[in-house]
Amino acid sequence: MRLSRYFLPVLRDVPKEAEIVSHRLMLRAGMIRQQASGLYSWLPLGYKVLMKVQKIIEEEQNRSGAVQLLMPTIQPADLWRESGRYDAYGKEMLRIEDRHEREFLYGPTNEEMITDIFRTYVKSYKDLPLNLYHVQWKFRDEVRPRFGTMRSREFLMKDAYSFDLSKEDAVKAYERMFVAYMRTYARMGLTAIPMRADTGPIGGDLSHEWIVLAETGESAVFCDNRLLDKPIPGQDTDFRGDLKPIFDDWTSLYAATEDMVDMAEYEAAVPEEHRVSARGIEVGHIFYFGTKYSEPMKATVTGPEGKEIAVHMGSYGIGPTRLVPAIIEAFHDEAGIVWPVSVAPFEAVLINLKAGDADSDAACEALYDELVAAGIDMLYDDRDQGAGAKFTTADLIGIPYQLIIGPRGLKAGEAEIKHRKTGERETLPIADAVARIKGLIEPQRKTDI
Ligand code: ATP
Ligand code: MG
Repeated sequence: MRLSRYFLPVLRDVPKEAEIVSHRLMLRAGMIRQQASGLYSWLPLGYKVLMKVQKIIEEEQNRSGAVQLLMPTIQPADLWRESGRYDAYGKEMLRIEDRHEREFLYGPTNEEMITDIFRTYVKSYKDLPLNLYHVQWKFRDEVRPRFGTMRSREFLMKDAYSFDLSKEDAVKAYERMFVAYMRTYARMGLTAIPMRADTGPIGGDLSHEWIVLAETGESAVFCDNRLLDKPIPGQDTDFRGDLKPIFDDWTSLYAATEDMVDMAEYEAAVPEEHRVSARGIEVGHIFYFGTKYSEPMKATVTGPEGKEIAVHMGSYGIGPTRLVPAIIEAFHDEAGIVWPVSVAPFEAVLINLKAGDADSDAACEALYDELVAAGIDMLYDDRDQGAGAKFTTADLIGIPYQLIIGPRGLKAGEAEIKHRKTGERETLPIADAVARIKGLIEPQRKTDI
């Protein structure tokens, strides 16, 4: 992408309304624009990151055996009357009436609709287990939308729903999602800790939330610090096999959010030197809730003995539009964002320090073409601007590697690479630049963890 033809409205000043660093940086880096309280447009740079985050989520959902579909954002109120949640949900639900005075709502979640789809088509236990998911916008009329897209009213959510014949099978489905979530966060470079959680309005009796530790987080959390460097289940994990040992291993160490913590239990379970009591951001939440929806909504299958059995369900949510600021909270410095390669809007930026000069343009054009052909997601700063402005932008928007072509280096046949994360600089022959950039980036894409 040529920066001269891109749309990157960076701001020089720190926006006053933004209280936390991720919100400030998302505004300054031209990633989002607030349209009304809790409603955001995703500008090109932000949207690119959001789509990379979504793709990782989809890949790991698919790997675990979940199947993607897409449900609408607007749902009929009658479905929610069947489950009893239409009245229970309260003011967070945005209620809508159409021209025929029929009642609708903008979905805050999709348990009812997916249960309706399930009961329409699935009739036999032989079709189980089944896990269906979508990535779709949700609306919750939050009392206090804040921190940019961290807590917005309209937000993107991946929500998956599992259907099984028994509690025992449903727990296996839960374990598959648990492992898929561990892999998902790790691929984004995040350390997210699974914690025992409250089930809230979704209901049920088994639930975990994933928390990224951050001072600006909204939840107080209590955990064992040995969870922070536990190895993540690899891509060769057999999702058709028994995942209980992995689940037990992760859940054997204490971790609970403030709603669930029992201080005496915490202190008994975690030796003092391993205790972490900190703040964190909830980036995902999974639930097993049995027949809470399948019974009232009559989602049954014929079991092996010919009896009608209400299916056991779970739901599994993860918020891409919250993950983007959570990643920034974890990875930034005074100069701006420091993206992990796997979610960076561009993997490298080619900086032409003498744009407009025929030799410099020719060298940069050739390099750019080669880098793109080598599969690198490239930004090319071909703008007619001073070096200072170019470096400031590259640092602010957090591109992992800057490949710099300056007039002096060009004469000597040399380029410079700046590592955004460490500030380290290296000089190398221009002829070696493509291979070097490739060599730096490929191992960090984390497609193979
Ligand atoms: P919270 O406790 O933060 O209000 P929740 O427990 O109500 O969230 P869930 O129903 O568990 O949220 O939603 C699943 C995921 O969707 C959350 O883990 C989070 O990543 C995301 N999410 C929920 N609410 C919002 C929001 N208002 N803005 C952005 N993302 C959200
Ligand atoms: Mg939650």
